[in-house]
Amino acid sequence: MTADRTPQEAAGSDTQREVIDAAPKQLFIAGRWVDANESATFEVRDPSTGEALCNVADASPADGRAALDAAVAAQPGFAAQSPRARADMLTRAFELIHERIDELALLMTLEMGKPVAEARGEITYAAEFLRHFAGEAVRINGGYQVAPAGGARFLVARQPVGPCLLITPWNFPLAMGTRKIGPALAAGCTSVIKPAQQTPLSMLAFVDILREAGVPDGVVNVVTTTAANGVMEPLIRSGLARKLSFTGSTKVGKILLEQSAEHVLRTSMELGGNAPLLVFEDADVDEAVEGALAAKMRNMGEACTAANRILVHESIIDAFGEKLAKKMAAMPVGRGTDDGVKVGPLIDDVAQRKVSELVADAVEQGAEVLTGGETPTGGGYFYPPTVLTRVPRSARMANEEIFGPVAPLTPFSTEDEAVEAANDTEFGLVSFVFTNDLRRALRVSEALETGMVGINQGVVSNPAAPFGGVKQSGLGREGGSVGIDEFLETKYVGIAL
Ligand code: NAP
Repeated sequence: MTADRTPQEAAGSDTQREVIDAAPKQLFIAGRWVDANESATFEVRDPSTGEALCNVADASPADGRAALDAAVAAQPGFAAQSPRARADMLTRAFELIHERIDELALLMTLEMGKPVAEARGEITYAAEFLRHFAGEAVRINGGYQVAPAGGARFLVARQPVGPCLLITPWNFPLAMGTRKIGPALAAGCTSVIKPAQQTPLSMLAFVDILREAGVPDGVVNVVTTTAANGVMEPLIRSGLARKLSFTGSTKVGKILLEQSAEHVLRTSMELGGNAPLLVFEDADVDEAVEGALAAKMRNMGEACTAANRILVHESIIDAFGEKLAKKMAAMPVGRGTDDGVKVGPLIDDVAQRKVSELVADAVEQGAEVLTGGETPTGGGYFYPPTVLTRVPRSARMANEEIFGPVAPLTPFSTEDEAVEAANDTEFGLVSFVFTNDLRRALRVSEALETGMVGINQGVVSNPAAPFGGVKQSGLGREGGSVGIDEFLETKYVGIAL
């Protein structure tokens, strides 16, 4: 924050100040808003200015432990509630989100940077997880079977896994939370949630909605902290939690898997991506450009599903590049609260520097800039929509998540070459294929080593579909009818007749 501006001034207009002032900023433990130990706080910043918006509670390990103790104490009572009661809470929370969508969207834009229209889109998506899992809560089923040799009977029951630790990233501050909290509540699990330190406000506001929706004390607890490892590692190693669900980088996911091994926690891991987007010579080029735009520019490119490598058949790469560059160059960049802005700032200076370095590296290795490519100076962490063509496979950006509005195009000549290039990564979250040949679409989607494939579409995320990756992109699935399985244990009861 600059010396002559208060956090309130940095937040901008009266409405923006009101939304920030009204947002909860304490820890939520055992159904109460509480200060952190020694009233410690940290600043939340607006990435479009770099200035402080407000301070929120900075939890200590003791606060984390109090949150987990509350979740453990609430677990038996919550598991005993009827599925219908749990579904009704989720439905009420869904309704309350929609009633407050204007304030929630503004809050999200202020702390994360995405344009308000995109924040509304995320909040709608986030709320859908609650509606979807309200439906799943009342459909948890089991089985009854005659043993193959006769005599005994098998009863198969599904029970909540127990208290959960839920850790979420900053890029989708609400949806990455509801994708876990929705099924956890539906299954009858209590939890401690740790949102990213850059974007705690959306989660705190949502938890207040859950409280209002009737979620019992201790069932959902939130700790915001600058000491992610210091607070979470003792909880993971405590033996009191039974499950860890994490969304974030592969690097941190690996650390958490090691920590979880001590007590053999159930784990779900939604990790990094390096999505290939393949455009074949038989594709509709205009449709492929629109798809690439969606796959690349949603969330300013700060998405695990963002198209990170755009592989285009050599016969159409020039036409494709020209059209994509024209569209990307026309996207207004600016503060997410301003009218008409389509591209907000990146999350911080580290992200901005990384994107600049990746572009410089690709250009040094022979890539050609079709639009963008210049890091702006001045306040905020902006980066212009950028299209690079003829990016070699050795470029850093072909092997690392760009997490910014940069579209790298690389030519290919055969289908085999395209599939081999697409699979040449340790990640396996999602891939996108543009072709009008049905046989090719099926052949290629079967050969791609990813948990999800979009055919002729640039966005696959849907609360009713199973989201998740293979290889180093993760373990388990969120959403869909299987999303609740991550929070249920299967119990077999053998019965002698
Ligand atoms: P990150 O650095 O891994 O952080 C994610 C969360 O983990 C944050 O809450 C962070 O807290 C916390 N954390 C960091 N170190 C920790 C530790 N040692 N112990 C416990 N918690 C720890 O990732 P990010 O930069 O926020 O998010 C971007 C990454 O998430 C990208 O790789 C993206 O692909 C991935 N992502 C994946 C999906 C998916 O569904 N597969 C969805 C969205 C994002 P702090 O904020 O305090 O650091």
